Amino acid sequence: MISLRDLTVTQRTMLAAGGTAVLVILAMLLAASDLDLTPFRTLREVHFSGDGTVVETRYNPIALLGIAAIGVAVLALLGLILLGFVRLLSNVFGGAFGGSSKAVMQASSKLDQELSKVLGSIRAHITTNDSYAKSLANAQARLGALPESEQVRVIVSLLVAENERMRNDSNALKTRLEDSQKQIQSLRSSLTEAEEVVLKDPLTGTGNRRQFDVTMEKAIQECQTKVTPLSLVMCDIDHFKRVNDAFGHQVGDELIKMFARVIEGSVRDADTVIRYGGEEFAVILPMTDQDGARVIAERIRRQFESKRLTIRETNQKIGQLTASFGVAQYRTGDDVEALVQRADAKLYDAKSSGRNRVAVFGE
Ligand code: GH3
Ligand code: MG
Ligand code: MG
Repeated sequence: MISLRDLTVTQRTMLAAGGTAVLVILAMLLAASDLDLTPFRTLREVHFSGDGTVVETRYNPIALLGIAAIGVAVLALLGLILLGFVRLLSNVFGGAFGGSSKAVMQASSKLDQELSKVLGSIRAHITTNDSYAKSLANAQARLGALPESEQVRVIVSLLVAENERMRNDSNALKTRLEDSQKQIQSLRSSLTEAEEVVLKDPLTGTGNRRQFDVTMEKAIQECQTKVTPLSLVMCDIDHFKRVNDAFGHQVGDELIKMFARVIEGSVRDADTVIRYGGEEFAVILPMTDQDGARVIAERIRRQFESKRLTIRETNQKIGQLTASFGVAQYRTGDDVEALVQRADAKLYDAKSSGRNRVAVFGE
């Protein structure tokens, strides 16, 4: 059950704004309508006065209460619908990554806290150093009045005492800094883990659409500054719906994972494999022109079609699966969308010209 407490401040504000808008619209409709309340006029009293007749109409209080109750029920229903709508929006625009993003935020705020603690300790240490220097200077000023042999004795004992104080203080700082370093190290690794989760597709472990956007932006920038080629391959399993229908969704999922492994096994470390949609993958190939990209796509295609698949538990044969590929190379002035569109158009060509093939933009 959805509750107000589950919503963020933004969602609550959206809800309040939506509710107010609905109320205003209802009030406007009510004002504009010619509402006939005749059915609720039940008590009528007629008075005769000296020069005419006055007719006074009263409304049945029970009927009015009924209207009020219906009004409240309608408003509550609208509220629930709005709540559902807000929840749906938050799922669509952030829910999928909500948990992981929260983990990133928590880790990074802990990191901030830890760093400010370290800063505090260092400041305190510097203040202690200051007071050490001051106390020695004070002592020196007061020593002049003593005989020389006494001066040496006092200076030595003062230095010993002050050094002891400094040593203790330095040890405490060292321990504190070591603790902090450990904390920061562990926070940093949980931050990295959380960031990785945010960018990964949970089924295949390849990158997800977020990773796609991040990597593409970087790759385009790099190919512009270094003037190196960049290509994109869109890959899609052929007739996958039939496979799902014949063997079930779970087997379908395993096949998607297997396709991901085939793609990953056919590319270099510098390339990025992304699960772009259900059974559709994108491969970002930096420093690769379209001929190079075609070779890689062909390699994936051949690897995939060469597999003969069987369901281990039932010994049921799935047989041969194939995939189609669209290849496009980055052109000056392209944004991410333009490059994706050209690779996608070629994927469509590969499908419509018989599937299990690679189509390259411009050919
Ligand atoms: P085409 O050769 O034209 O690509 O045909 P297709 O059936 O592969 O294409 P289409 O895109 O129409 O269907 C893809 C199907 O993939 C639809 C859906 O049933 C299935 N699918 C999408 N996501 C998943 C998923 O995560 N797991 C599984 N098992 N199936 C999925
Ligand atoms: Mg398909
Ligand atoms: Mg598809």
